[in-house]
Amino acid sequence: MGLWQAKDVLATGYRWVVGDGKKIIATKDPWLSRKRDFKVENHWRYEGRSETVSSLFYPGTNIWDVDKVYELFNVDDANTILATFVLQHLVEDRIVWAMSNDEIYNVKTGYHFWHNRNIGDSICTRSGGWNKLWNNLPVRNHLRHRGIPVTILCPLCNVDVEHLLHVFFDCTFAKECWHAAGVSLDMSQVFFALDWLLNKIETSSYVESIKLATILWGIWFWRNKKVWEDRIVPANTAMELAFNTIHKWRKARKQEEPASTNRSNADSLSNRKWRPPPQGMLKVNVDASVFPRSETFSVGNVVRDHNGMFIAAKVMSLPRPATILEAESIGVREALSWIMQRGDEQGIIESDSLLTIRALQGKKKYLLEVGHVVDSCKSIIQSIPGFVLSYVRKQANKVAHDLVRYPCSVNCSHVFTSPPSQLLETIMNNCSNE
Ligand SMILES: [Zn+2]
Repeated sequence: MGLWQAKDVLATGYRWVVGDGKKIIATKDPWLSRKRDFKVENHWRYEGRSETVSSLFYPGTNIWDVDKVYELFNVDDANTILATFVLQHLVEDRIVWAMSNDEIYNVKTGYHFWHNRNIGDSICTRSGGWNKLWNNLPVRNHLRHRGIPVTILCPLCNVDVEHLLHVFFDCTFAKECWHAAGVSLDMSQVFFALDWLLNKIETSSYVESIKLATILWGIWFWRNKKVWEDRIVPANTAMELAFNTIHKWRKARKQEEPASTNRSNADSLSNRKWRPPPQGMLKVNVDASVFPRSETFSVGNVVRDHNGMFIAAKVMSLPRPATILEAESIGVREALSWIMQRGDEQGIIESDSLLTIRALQGKKKYLLEVGHVVDSCKSIIQSIPGFVLSYVRKQANKVAHDLVRYPCSVNCSHVFTSPPSQLLETIMNNCSNE
């Protein structure tokens, strides 16, 4: 995939963020975050017109003139325009790279964008994406199916056809690698090996899933060494080198992570459980869930005291698409506003989104619309100095995680003053007294 071929796709990854609306031509520029190419649909309808976005506001404001928008655009475009978030303080319009959370173009997000447009929306979902990921690995029988004249035999054993299951499980080299890494695979009852593997990774502990991923990566790495450099090492050396590389990678990452996420002791049982706050304080666990199919997202907060007693919970569903950072930040903002309303003075707000905690604790200015949510969270945090934000592992945030999946109609919220029955078991079992 050449850079030249990619440039047209990448050029569609930019869009405007509306400020005063003066620079953006509403009928043709990319400025609608909810549209796939960020533009009004059916541009031809509006050909020859060049209204700026600012002309759709009431004069002297940045509030949508609803009648005018419906008059000028078809219903679908008008609805999208009216649902577009506009910053309430006047700033200039700005162009952002829309595909990363920090709005700055880099090769990684560029590739990711190209990949999504061309291969699929998510590479790690069970529905299709997982299979696409696997099916894109250039094993020899795939290459042959695509008409590429290569030998079909496994480069490592020269005995069998090189297909996915052979490379990772059936080949003598693969078997020796699993053995060398101390993992015994009983696949006698397994009919769909890839689903089985995904399931195993999902249900394993963090350490175990890293181990599985390392073995797979190591096998593929040494398979490629054989193909491209004709280099081969014994399976135990291959695994030793693979685990060494992962060890170095984790060490480097650990230095970047905040202390609370330091993984070295993260698998101890107590870190997987929720911990009550110190005496006299409250703890609010926050989570969010994005539902791309229905273009909605939910946020939820659970408040408990130092005895682990349930105080209250709130869940709400919002009627628009959101990025994870947006949804999680809105979850935190809802928690903060709720704390202020309740008059609580001291406590901890816990989220399992490291991205969000970093955004809310950092100094970086976010140019995308999410910046507005981030800024408002920061200013509320300053006004309630008795509360601190903290990162927590997903397992210890399970009550909030379950709460956001509580059925809730769009645009509605539920407040609970006693725990809903669906959460009781988690509340009872997911609490550490250490
Ligand atoms: Zn083989």
